[in-house]
Amino acid sequence: MAIPMKLKQFLKEKKYYLLIVLAVVLLAALVTYIGVRLDRGPGGSILPFDTASQYPMDVAFVNVGQGDGIVIRCEDAAIVIDGGEQTAAAAMKECLKNENITDVDCYIATHPHSDHIGAIPAVMKAVNVKTFMMTEFSELNMPTTRNFEQMVDAVEDEGCEVLFVRGGEEYTFGKMKLQILAPLEETNNYNNMSIVVRLVYGEISFLLTGDAEKDVEAQILAGGADVDADVIKLGHHGSSNASSRPFIEAVSPLIAVISCGADNDYGHPHKETLELMKELSVRVLRTDTDGTVHVYSDGKNVFTKELVG
Ligand SMILES: [Zn+2]
Repeated sequence: MAIPMKLKQFLKEKKYYLLIVLAVVLLAALVTYIGVRLDRGPGGSILPFDTASQYPMDVAFVNVGQGDGIVIRCEDAAIVIDGGEQTAAAAMKECLKNENITDVDCYIATHPHSDHIGAIPAVMKAVNVKTFMMTEFSELNMPTTRNFEQMVDAVEDEGCEVLFVRGGEEYTFGKMKLQILAPLEETNNYNNMSIVVRLVYGEISFLLTGDAEKDVEAQILAGGADVDADVIKLGHHGSSNASSRPFIEAVSPLIAVISCGADNDYGHPHKETLELMKELSVRVLRTDTDGTVHVYSDGKNVFTKELVG
């Protein structure tokens, strides 16, 4: 009880300046805590981008308009996820060319909506694909769209290995580990059939969620999978039907990337999503306002030029 007694005495003697010192110490502790919160991360911190070529990993969230298209180069391996609508093929191919990617170790089609798979046939013609990953559908929910049929034809033409994946599986491509977190169950809601992957390189991880909505996020959390990631591509273009608070808190990302088109018809990203990111001190990068977003890594930290200035 010595401290309260002393405090009482200080107050009595009007030694308020000591209280000011105490307040300054508490404020310094708070600032340090916030600094650690912003800088922390499972693998490290966000640092300003320097020269792209110096980093062994480049994850490019391509500006495909309203849709998703991700090109990942890591040492001598490459993964591509989706590609946007048919009209986005040129942007995808340009990114692959800039990254000097001619061989794709794994091409993932998250789910059969045109804003994800539309460009895949054209993109596949420009590169050699070794493995193609997709969700298996039954007769009950087999897609019948032209886009889906064209994608299946393109995969057959490529003659590559096809993997029908489910949550709980794990694959390795070069130095990248690919942990499949979803789909976990069959549904007619194709968004919720999205392949959700946690991509791990060294101490850094990326959570790439396709258009998976809150139901899937809850299923993943209930299954006890490790969702922790430095960078998350928010589900369903930043829609409020994805990115639940418990899920984002469990992921605890430093950076959230939103892939959406400028002035899109859906109002993506929704303000609830942006507010949650702000509240959780997650830095948001958007393809509609930032253009193609590059996040680089050396396996210990993440780097992005959008942080400069
Ligand atoms: Zn979509």
